[in-house]
Amino acid sequence: MKLYIVGFGPGGLEYMTNEAVSVIKEADIIVGYSTYVEIVKEYFPEKKYFQTPMKKEIDRCRWAIEETLKGSNVALVCSGDSGIYGLAGLIYELTKDYPPFEIEVVAGVTAACSGGSVLGAPLTHDFAVISLSDLLTPWEVIEERVKMASKADFVVCLYNPSSKKRHDYLQKACDMMMEYKKKDTVCGYVRNIGRMGEEYHICTLEELREVQVDMFTTVFVGNSNTKNINNKMVTPRGYHI
Ligand code: SAH
Repeated sequence: MKLYIVGFGPGGLEYMTNEAVSVIKEADIIVGYSTYVEIVKEYFPEKKYFQTPMKKEIDRCRWAIEETLKGSNVALVCSGDSGIYGLAGLIYELTKDYPPFEIEVVAGVTAACSGGSVLGAPLTHDFAVISLSDLLTPWEVIEERVKMASKADFVVCLYNPSSKKRHDYLQKACDMMMEYKKKDTVCGYVRNIGRMGEEYHICTLEELREVQVDMFTTVFVGNSNTKNINNKMVTPRGYHI
C-alpha cells in the first residue's frame, strides 16, 4: 500500500510523464477534485475514481490517507505538478495524525513550463512564480512578493490570476509591477494549456492591465530584456549573437 501524489500536467495525455501514466494505471483508486478526475477519466476510463469538490482539500487528503491505510494503492491526482500549489505538502503535514505509510510524489509538468512552451521561451532567465490567490495567503504578502520580484527584474509567472470574486487582482498586480517594470514590458498569457480551446496572447504590461483573464489562465510578465519575436515571448539567456 502506497499513496502516490501525482501531477498529471496541464491536461493533455501528451504532457503526462510516463511515470504518472504507469502510477495511474497501477493504482487501485484515483482520488481528486472533480474537474481533475474528469480529465484523467477520459484517458483511463476503466479505473475506479473518488471525486471531491473544490475547497475540500483537507477532507480529500484524509480520505486518500485512510484509503491507503486500509491497504490500497491510491493515486491522489493534481493538475500540473502536485508540489506546486498542489496537495503534496498537505499530505506530509497530515501524516502526524496517522500511523506510518509510504508516500511517493510523482512530478508533473507545471503550468509555468507547459504555458511557457506555448508562448515561446519566456523563462530562459531567472523567474519567480507567484499565486494571486489570497484564499490561503494574506494579500499583503502577495503584494510584497509581486513588488520585490518586479524590483529584482525577475520574469514573473502568475498562477491563479483571477476568479469570480477576485476579478481585479491581475489589474492590481500590473499596477504594482509598473512601479518597477516598464509599461511596454513584453507579457503573455495562456488559457487552457494542453486542453481544448488552448489560446495564447502576447501584449505589453500596460495592455495586460486591461485584460480580463479567468482561473484557467497562466500569466507571464517579462524582465527588462524580454522580447516579442514574431509574436512569441522570448527572454534572452544572454548569448552574444
Ligand atoms: N499544480 C498546478 C497549479 C495549480 S494552481 C501546476 O503545477 O500547474 C491553479 C492555477 O494553475 C490556475 O489558476 C492557472 O493559473 C494555472 N494552470 C493550471 N493548469 C492550467 C492550464 N491547463 N492552463 C492554464 N493555466 C493553468
